[in-house]
Amino acid sequence: MLAVTFQEPGRVAVEERPDPEPVAPDDAVVRVDASGICGSDLHIFHGRVQIEPGFTIGHEFVGTVVAAGDDVTQVSVGDRVLGTFHSACGHCFFCRKGLFQKCDEARVFGHGKALGSLQGTQAELALVPHANLTLRRVPEGLSNDVALFAGDVMGTGYHAIVNAGLQPGDTCAVIGLGPVGLCAVMSAAVAGAARVIAIDTVPERLEVARSLGAQPVHATEEDPRAAVKEATEGRGVDVAVDAVGNAAVVDLGVRLLRKAGTLSMVGVHAERAEVHMGLIWFKNITVAGGHANVMGHLDAVLSLMGAGRLDPTPLVTHHMKLSEAQDAYDAYASHQALKIVLSA
Ligand SMILES: [Zn+2]
Ligand SMILES: [Zn+2]
Repeated sequence: MLAVTFQEPGRVAVEERPDPEPVAPDDAVVRVDASGICGSDLHIFHGRVQIEPGFTIGHEFVGTVVAAGDDVTQVSVGDRVLGTFHSACGHCFFCRKGLFQKCDEARVFGHGKALGSLQGTQAELALVPHANLTLRRVPEGLSNDVALFAGDVMGTGYHAIVNAGLQPGDTCAVIGLGPVGLCAVMSAAVAGAARVIAIDTVPERLEVARSLGAQPVHATEEDPRAAVKEATEGRGVDVAVDAVGNAAVVDLGVRLLRKAGTLSMVGVHAERAEVHMGLIWFKNITVAGGHANVMGHLDAVLSLMGAGRLDPTPLVTHHMKLSEAQDAYDAYASHQALKIVLSA
């Protein structure tokens, strides 16, 4: 089978790899019909997250089950399925609490040895551990492009909003309008936000946010704090979402929040960062952050997608072949694309 592998910073390859087969009784093998390129793949591509050269990358996928071990009961060979970006055991302390993203045995597709040595899904076939939890049948009528979002990007955008406890009538600021930020914009609206203020510096992304009903604010050509003040009678927003993952965004989020507001951080923070703790304390800010519980939100997200209330279709800007992976990564790295969907 063909697989997209990491080679060195800035370079991927399309290589021949042996076809995977189920090893554990609850493993399945999926023929990948569509796999997305995600912002976290970009961290690998740029060498900020290190993995072994030759490792298959990718973690968003929709496909068809082609083999399943004897203990796989929730999906069958021939089923059209989507996967979550990581697997979970289903029985450890954290899984029993429903915190699947913190599973003691969690393995993330396409992230090398450090995150469980699970080969990625930008390939013709993928081995899926704990298939009863990791896979879900695609509901009737959902396209590959839409279903692809449930197991990672939309699950994360949705988590950013529900994990912050957003209430109907709230005002929400989303900082960073990549696919996760735009999914947070949609999720905030679905959760009942009266206003969503969407902040970025890329005009095309601000335009997508506007089309989703948000108020776009250019981060540098406009004044986000003034826009938020005007929208909230000077109070600040109830919820601010960091969909980027750096200290400047956290700082802006804290400043945009009202007293006793919630900062929801779903952007990946990989490094030590300085924050104004005095301001967080003085404003009674609640900080909610970390990996999203995509597995825990999967049924809700699929229902909302099935009903058309969460529709990430406008975020898919490119369809490309696995063999064009290098061009796809180059395009994504230069912000020419929102979501690129690869297929064999
Ligand atoms: Zn991802
Ligand atoms: Zn577990």
